[in-house]
Amino acid sequence: MLKGQSALVTGGSRGIGKAIAVELAKQGVNVAVNYSGNREKAEEVANSCRKYDVEAFTWKADISKEEEVKTMLKEVTSAFGGLDILVNNAGITRDNLMMRMKEDDWDDVMNINLKGVFFCSKAAARTMSKQRSGKIINIASVVGLTGNPGQANYTAAKAGVIGLTKTMAKEFASRNIQVNAVAPGFIATDMTEQMSEEARDAVLSQIPASHLGKPDDVAHAVTFLASSSAGYITGQTINVDGGMVM
Ligand code: NAD
Repeated sequence: MLKGQSALVTGGSRGIGKAIAVELAKQGVNVAVNYSGNREKAEEVANSCRKYDVEAFTWKADISKEEEVKTMLKEVTSAFGGLDILVNNAGITRDNLMMRMKEDDWDDVMNINLKGVFFCSKAAARTMSKQRSGKIINIASVVGLTGNPGQANYTAAKAGVIGLTKTMAKEFASRNIQVNAVAPGFIATDMTEQMSEEARDAVLSQIPASHLGKPDDVAHAVTFLASSSAGYITGQTINVDGGMVM
């Protein structure tokens, strides 16, 4: 159903973004892999995508910088002759208890996890509006719904992403652009690897499925939302969390 379409995945060089890029390629989608740090890793992801006979290339941009985002969207759109799917996946954590959290930790997380989604979506929506079709899928987090001690910045940004998803869904619906979010619970990636064994056990005790999710679990939800099967779904957040939040 997605064959021949084009996608941009932000923060696609590892973890959940990598799984999304490769899963979209598996479905026949041409993929641009955005990265901000390690080019080699991003190239490896693009190579994995090409195994499925699709076009794939990497593009370096810091999504918290609007000029870099505008240039990236211009280049990706011209390389693919349009843009069907934007996956706003890039994100960071700078955890600390509220009373110890520094302004920089707040700003860095807000700028990447929330403002970055705004910049990328605004730039992609210009093209999608002209096409009168498009899918924007934002990777939020269940902690954006529940809150989480030690993550004031991250939970506020992810709650913001869920609110932004709903507003964009309403503003863009008449242009046939669907905007949805996926809220992962705890997924085994570099981001969750940093957790202590104690913290990991505490998390596991909250997951009815009794195990962490895999990046592919998130990628499958994204692929569904990107497909025409989800054409009448917009403004929604799908939790992919083994039953953690109901
Ligand atoms: P990760 O740290 O493995 O990957 C994040 C990616 O974002 C990296 O490739 C990184 O280079 C990129 N990135 C960071 N800052 C960037 C910037 N300024 N510009 C462009 N790219 C940038 O994390 P992950 O676990 O794969 O998480 C992916 C997304 O899923 C994030 O939005 C995260 O908040 C969300 N999420 C993850 C989990 C989890 O359990 N792993 C749970 C809920 C939500």
